[in-house]
Amino acid sequence: VTTSPLSALSADELAARLTSVREEYDELKARGLKLDLTRGKPGADQLDLSNDLLGLPSTYQDRSGTDVRNYGGLEGLIEMREIFADLLGVDVANVVCGGNSSLTLMHQVLTALLIKGGPDSPRPWSQEPVVRFVCPVPGYDRHFTMLAELGIEMVTVPMNADGPDVAAVRAVVADDPSVKGMWIVPTYANPTGSVCSPEVAAELMAMPTAAPDFRILWDNAYAVHHLTEDEAKSADALSLAEASGHPNRPIMFASTSKITYAGAGVAALAASAENKAWYLQRLGFAAIGPDKVNHLRHVEFFGDADGVRAHMRKHRDLIAPKFAAVEEALSSRLSGLGIAEWTVPTGGYFVNLDVVDGTATRVIELAKEAGIVLTPAGSAFPHGNDPNDRNIRLAPTYPGLDDVRAAMAGVALCVELAALESLTRG
Ligand code: PMP
Repeated sequence: VTTSPLSALSADELAARLTSVREEYDELKARGLKLDLTRGKPGADQLDLSNDLLGLPSTYQDRSGTDVRNYGGLEGLIEMREIFADLLGVDVANVVCGGNSSLTLMHQVLTALLIKGGPDSPRPWSQEPVVRFVCPVPGYDRHFTMLAELGIEMVTVPMNADGPDVAAVRAVVADDPSVKGMWIVPTYANPTGSVCSPEVAAELMAMPTAAPDFRILWDNAYAVHHLTEDEAKSADALSLAEASGHPNRPIMFASTSKITYAGAGVAALAASAENKAWYLQRLGFAAIGPDKVNHLRHVEFFGDADGVRAHMRKHRDLIAPKFAAVEEALSSRLSGLGIAEWTVPTGGYFVNLDVVDGTATRVIELAKEAGIVLTPAGSAFPHGNDPNDRNIRLAPTYPGLDDVRAAMAGVALCVELAALESLTRG
């Protein structure tokens, strides 16, 4: 097996290699696999870690004696808010805990900005001729589909290893008042695994923006989802924003979806006092209070933020081997061939794989024909449009370890086959 770049091979050598890799692919297809690496869902063994929740809470009163079964307490149970405040590195006064989904909180914030405007908006965003958002790419598909659904235009900027490309962001936001906000997944980003450095965060919070009500939706979905002992610390967005005179710029989101139950966790929002009051005022027309029984059972289950951290180490033990299997499959087949680059994330739920330009769609098609379902090409880009057709998001947490191994060996084979097809077409 050669590990020199495929581009160094002669036309005859490439043709011979294509023939042999095709034979290998036919054998793969004949195995009739049925594997799925599409969505970043916790595996059943991860969900089992939280099954004590099903017998909780043991009481129906919180610390202050509030009956959690009843209406009220719009900002969420204080004990739950304290846990999120500790995990997110913010003051508990800035935190609201809601239902199970942080995506729903993001959607509520965006619709409120569109219909009402923020505390510092000249008018509701929907009354602007056009509203644009800065979108670091590759990014989280649901962020982009949410904006598309709400009629917000997307302007892409590159996502680097230390966060969004600040120079590119600055160029987009400086003069155009229609650019009202941006997404960021600051820690172990979906799908790149990037961690936004304190320097990049400081620049994003301080940069001049033409829109006076510019918002950074700081989706810290993976704040505590470490895969190694080298645990990344999230930048302190709220303090940085306040220090640079833009306290209302960031709105933070997080949830326990990938800590306890993806379908029955607790979501949280953290923001400046003014933003929080604005959000709660809107929410007050939509709810009389959140599911405090769920808050209380999470509080009893964890005790405190250190309880969450200890719990996350159990997740790490279950999923780190799956990420290692991805790395092993990709590097054993593709290292040195010059046809793929991939991340080795230290946290989060994804591996980002870049293949030869123009072949991602083909790789995914080949994998599908061999029974391995991958996220559709372009998913990590607005409107599903990867201009280079090279990006593939891999999500290894849900299948069992053996399935991850089998699927990834197949994926690596498809990457090579698509590259050879492309090079021999050349
Ligand atoms: N944000 C990011 C970046 C995610 O990857 C996910 C889950 N795939 C979510 C939010 C969803 O969060 P929730 O379950 O709290 O709605």
